Formats: sequence, structure tokens, C-alpha cells
Amino acid sequence: MAATPESLWEVRCIPNKGYGMVATAPVEPGTCLLVEKPLYIRAMVDDPIQQQNSIVESLIRSLPDAAQRDAFHALASSFSVLYPDYPYYSIATTNEVALSGAQDGASGLFLRWSRFNHACTPSAYWAWNEDDGASSSKGRRGVLTVHAIRHLNPGDEISISYFENRVMPHDDRERYLAEVYCFACDCALCSLAPGPWRDDVDERLRQLEAFWRKYHLGEDTQGPPSSPSSPSSLSTPASSAATPTITTTSKPSNKDGNIASKEEEVGENVIVDVRALNQQRYLHDAAGCLAECREAAELILEAEEDVGDGAGGEDGDIAGCIDVTFAYEIALALALFVGDAARASVFAARNRDRYTVTLGADSVEALRAGRCAENPCADRSFGLGGGGRRVMMGSDVVPDAEEIGEEAFEEWLWSAEEWQLRE
Ligand SMILES: [Zn+2]
Repeated sequence: MAATPESLWEVRCIPNKGYGMVATAPVEPGTCLLVEKPLYIRAMVDDPIQQQNSIVESLIRSLPDAAQRDAFHALASSFSVLYPDYPYYSIATTNEVALSGAQDGASGLFLRWSRFNHACTPSAYWAWNEDDGASSSKGRRGVLTVHAIRHLNPGDEISISYFENRVMPHDDRERYLAEVYCFACDCALCSLAPGPWRDDVDERLRQLEAFWRKYHLGEDTQGPPSSPSSPSSLSTPASSAATPTITTTSKPSNKDGNIASKEEEVGENVIVDVRALNQQRYLHDAAGCLAECREAAELILEAEEDVGDGAGGEDGDIAGCIDVTFAYEIALALALFVGDAARASVFAARNRDRYTVTLGADSVEALRAGRCAENPCADRSFGLGGGGRRVMMGSDVVPDAEEIGEEAFEEWLWSAEEWQLRE
């Protein structure tokens, strides 16, 4: 009989960290460790602290279950010294997580999730599976999930990254964690002594950060951010109560007037945030953008290969800092936009396989990526690179990887010579 997620871990005292989640059985990557509904959800507002304290207090006092109220009060409270008169605010700010997607601007509190400690190279991946009210959509909704992304042995602490898919070099991470979470991280990555290896790691992180800023925030060297929807500043605790809200799986929304919103309700949304590709400016250099996706993906995959199935992070490498779907999603968006069914189906299939590990086979993202892999032409962003007309053409046939070899297959996948603008 399959083990339930709750039977795979227990909350234990961790030296210097308070409590933490520890594996009680061997765990393989892709294993679901937690499915949790929020204790509460509240709008993230700039109200005065006193007012926020009252809001949280009334939410907690209205809970019917005394055990839940006690569990809330037992959570870590990083700001109790700073705000001794506002204990509810302090606990909420320490433990709440920003919910992305349809519930942008809201944060939730999860009693068990709050017990996971942070590592910049985590052993598990967490995600909020938003409930957008679309009853026809398949997939798990309205819960937070945690899945193992590395092999764990009994006794290993299970860590998650509070950065979600955000990447930062050493000093930025140190400052961010101190300002927002009031702690100093002692993970393998942060424990690296200054020197050439740490410089090398930081250089790779900077490269990935630049990619993330360009494609997921819409920032690049040519101008100001084109997508202001995501906070990027290293700000005060009040406005960044928990994990940054950046997500690579957020659905295209209508509020920014992106391309998807102008189309009829046919097919599905591209699963990446197409706002990052707004103004279609990247499509003028689609081949160059695809090359950048390849570089980012290879940086991540090389690090994961180095770690293998071991505990990982021993060398302070970047595996787990960021998920490879972060690069594949942009590659998929490009392939869809230019109408390249073959490459789109390969990128979608890779996303599906990765989401199956990080989010579960029953996640909205894995199911949607699977459907896209089967039929990329049904995606509503397919072929829209020319403003609704299919003016660019890619390939319709996926070469046989076994026949041409893995290396040649990768060369085909990442070369966009066929992406010529047609008159
Ligand atoms: Zn760290």
C-alpha cells in the first residue's frame, strides 16, 4: 500500500533552527510529501501593522478548532522583538506565503508547510495550486503541495526554498534572508567559503538571475520592466510577508492586455506567463532568445547531473536553486508563438515530465503540459507570433532521437534557423 504523505516525515527539533521536517522513510524524487489547505487566506494589504494584527487575530479566534489556534501560536515568530505588541502580525508575517495566480495579492497560512526550513539548494519543491473556480479544468486546486526533488534517507531534514524560482548570488541572498526572514542561512551553498568556487557559483547564479529578470519580469538592458506585476525589490517584511510571489506557472491574465486575452476562447492558455514575452519584441530575435533558454537550461541540468541522486548540495552547487521548467517554459512559449509544433511538443513534454516530479502528475501544470505535448496546435498562443497570423513557421516533425543520436537531437531542438519571418 502506498505511504501517505504524512507518514514520510515528522516534525522534529533541529539544532539552531527550532523545528523542522525530517524524513522518516526513504523518499524518491517526485514523492508527494504534503497536500495542505490554508488555515486562512487574507488579502495582502498595506494596512497599518495594528490593523493587520487585528485582522489576523479575528481570523485565528474564529477558528473552531482549539488545536489549530494552539498550532498557530506555536509557529515561529521572527518579528516578536520588533513588534512585541502585535504577536498575531508577527507570526503571520513570519509564516504566510504569497499566493500566485488568480489569487495574486493574497497570502495564506499553512500550519504544516510552515515547519519546513529553508535551504537555497532545497530537497523539496513547493507550490500553491490556485483555485481559479474553473470547474471544467482538471487538476488539483486550492492546496499547497510539497514534492521531493531529491532522494532522502530517514533522518534527513526536508528543506524547501523560500525564494521559489528566484535566483540570487551569495551576498544578495544573505541580505534578503536577513531582512525578510531574520535568519542567516547555513545551507551548503551559503556555507561556501569566499574563493574561486563561490565566485564561479555566483557567476552562474547571476547569469540565471539575468535570464529570469529578462523573461519572467520583462526586464532587460533595453528599457524599464515591461511587466510590473511581480515584486522584485528586496523590501521590508510587511510587503514581503513570505515567499516572493514570483511564479513561473502563473496563467496569462487579461489585466495587462496580453496577446492571449485578445484571442477567442479556443484552446488552452500557454502555460507560461506570456506577459514576459509581451510586445513581441523577443520574437524579432527568437533564435537568440532560444539560445539563451538553452544556456539557462544547461546550467541547471549540469548542476543536477553533478548532484545525481545523492543528498546533493555537498559542493555548494546550484542544483535545486531553480527549476529547469523556468527555461523550458520560455522555450515552449517561443516555439508556440512562432508556430513550431515539433519543438513545442518536445518542450511541453519536458515540462510535463518535470512538473510530474515537482508538482505531481495530477497537477494542473503537468496535465496541461501533457495536453500541449500531444497537440501543441490547440494552444491558443500557437502561431500568434505575427499578431494572429501564422507568419513564422517551424518544424512539424520531431526527429527520431534514437536514430540521430542525443547530441544531434539537442542541436535540432535548440536551433531556430527555420524560424524565418514570412512575408
Ligand atoms: Zn542558503
